[in-house]
Amino acid sequence: MSWLSNLFKKDTPKVSASINNVSRPIITKPFNTEKKIELVSFGGELPPAVVIGEIKRKVPAYYKNLYVILDNGHGEDTPGKRSPDGKFREYKYARLIVQMLADELEKLSIPYSILVPETKDISLSERVSRANKIHNEQHKKGKTVILLSIHCNAAGNGEWKNARGWSAWTSRGVTESDTIASCLYEAAHEILDPKKIQIRKDMSDGDEDWESNFYIIYKSSMPAVLTENFFQDNKLDVEYLNSDEGKRDIVNIHLNGIRKYIELKFNKK
Ligand SMILES: [Zn+2]
Repeated sequence: MSWLSNLFKKDTPKVSASINNVSRPIITKPFNTEKKIELVSFGGELPPAVVIGEIKRKVPAYYKNLYVILDNGHGEDTPGKRSPDGKFREYKYARLIVQMLADELEKLSIPYSILVPETKDISLSERVSRANKIHNEQHKKGKTVILLSIHCNAAGNGEWKNARGWSAWTSRGVTESDTIASCLYEAAHEILDPKKIQIRKDMSDGDEDWESNFYIIYKSSMPAVLTENFFQDNKLDVEYLNSDEGKRDIVNIHLNGIRKYIELKFNKK
């Protein structure tokens, strides 16, 4: 605990800001003084990036209200699901993104679980039963549970193709999943539009997300969105997927989408 206290002491001058317009002395108690610290009002804006050591003070308490189930698509033994040259594997990539995203959720104290820690393929029915079990348990603890299933798209069956871009899918009809998908799309636009990277939309039902009753999002009991993160059979998309920038962008689309949803749902200011 002592290194944490030291970390905290180092930045204490930053929290000497006035509370209720009364100037307070610098807080010297280490770390678990959450209640005494005024949370910043973020309005429509997302909180600034969190730096280790400042986490407990900067993250609003309502970030803990959401519980995120992270599903990484497929397994090492799933046929197909790779680039035509076999170098890019969807199961591996989805697991990398899920792990990177989980690390970011951890920093923000957003509870989560990784639905498939194994590398082999776990059947869809088993995934759904795991997810529903987590949903039940967390629902009892008062959490709002959502599921994100992370995939990479493919346009063909083993040859390089031209289709490119990012998209998100919900089950058919208007549900809470559409609200989450809209948050993800908003985040995707913020990150990808300035770089002129393609976002694929289906406006036929009035919103951008695509709709299909994919098993995992249709059969699971919580609001769920499946993201298709670019095309594993497009050379330029694969190059982007493999770049540090591409990985970071994909993680941030999900992370910022989650944060937007949290703000929308729980920030009652
Ligand atoms: Zn997939």
